Amino acid sequence: KIFAEIITVGDELLIGQVVDTNSAWMGKKLNQFGIAVNRITSVRDDSKEITEAVNSALKRVDIVLMTGGLGPTKDDITKTTLCQYFNTELVFDEAVYNNIKRILAGRIPMNEQNKSMAYVPKSCTVIPNHVGSASISWFDHQGKVLVSMPGVPDEMKTAMEQEILPRLNKKFDTDFILHETYIVKNYPESVLAEVLEEWEDKLPSFIRLAYLPKPGAMRLRLTAQGEDKAKLEETLRLAEEGLRKILKHDVFAEDDKPLEEQLGIWLRKHKYTVATAESCTGGRVAAKIAAIPGCSDYFNGSIVAYQNSVKRMQLGVQSATLEKHGAVSEETALEMVQGVCKQLHSDCGIATTGIAGPTGAAPGKPVGTVWIAVKCGDKIRTRLLNYDHGREMNIERTCNQGFFMLME
Ligand code: ATP
Ligand code: MG
Repeated sequence: KIFAEIITVGDELLIGQVVDTNSAWMGKKLNQFGIAVNRITSVRDDSKEITEAVNSALKRVDIVLMTGGLGPTKDDITKTTLCQYFNTELVFDEAVYNNIKRILAGRIPMNEQNKSMAYVPKSCTVIPNHVGSASISWFDHQGKVLVSMPGVPDEMKTAMEQEILPRLNKKFDTDFILHETYIVKNYPESVLAEVLEEWEDKLPSFIRLAYLPKPGAMRLRLTAQGEDKAKLEETLRLAEEGLRKILKHDVFAEDDKPLEEQLGIWLRKHKYTVATAESCTGGRVAAKIAAIPGCSDYFNGSIVAYQNSVKRMQLGVQSATLEKHGAVSEETALEMVQGVCKQLHSDCGIATTGIAGPTGAAPGKPVGTVWIAVKCGDKIRTRLLNYDHGREMNIERTCNQGFFMLME
């Protein structure tokens, strides 16, 4: 098994100014190339910290990938630190210099700072940077590899895809790593674990299972690693079969696609249109649907009806219903979904009304109380959510539940 570690460098990562998306991207890519990630470390722009991180990572794994700290400014010290660590010196590199000239051409004048970036560690192999001026260094060290890349995500990604991953693939004898992700609804984590215990115990040792909760649902990820791709695929297929036998239609869908994307696929398949009537979600359900390219094929529109007056005037919710049952009620949700389907000439509808919190609770209606109604042709379904997860989560859960319910 070939393992890698990722070290990202930069004060900005440690004060929360920049989120380390580089590591997440690299982790995913490395997996596709059969390289498992053992650890991700973020360190300050500090020579001692960088050295320590590099030294311990190289003790543990065969591949160490670094990003950040290669710029021309004084705070970027990765390059000089690596020179010290590998006991080498900086030398002028004509090709890197020409690349810097090419990148700067017509935009910024060449100055001493830019020129300093043409100095590279003598003992490394310089990897071309097709989209930026910083040099990329590949060190071979006692059968292991350390690569230092720029922190700018675009530069890192291009280098990884075009230069580094192919080279790693050639140098190391890597496995296949396959992931399958399923969405399971209607099960709290602990209950699901119980129901699946026997199935889980029978999984072979080269398959790993992970529970990843998401608002209103659970993702199950199966990861298989090994040399024989066909065997991995067959084992995963059998595992899925077993899973479907136990969970039946509660195993919702394969892939790690967002629910709104799956809803799009479902609506397209049935040639349905959809509209939303939203109170507590304030248009979030519609925004999610609209985030999927091509949604104009099935998305008619939305009425955000926050105030009762809008529920009455735009959706035709009866005053009597609002007075008798309140805005947060099954009755109101039902009239909202019927109203929006009629107003927007839609086959399907999703309506939400609830108390997202933290304020707004009423007697018998604590924060987290949400009524969802969905309509598909003549079929109408409602559901009550009644647990407070905090405003943001309450809204997200409501959206996801609405999608689930419509596709049921
Ligand atoms: P360059 O020479 O091109 O400036 P660099 O190696 O000096 O490259 P940094 O100065 O460390 O790069 O980072 C440049 C920018 O890239 C940062 O300001 C930040 O926006 C982004 N960045 C750096 N590290 C990461 C990371 N781990 N994840 C996401 N973005 C990052
Ligand atoms: Mg920096």
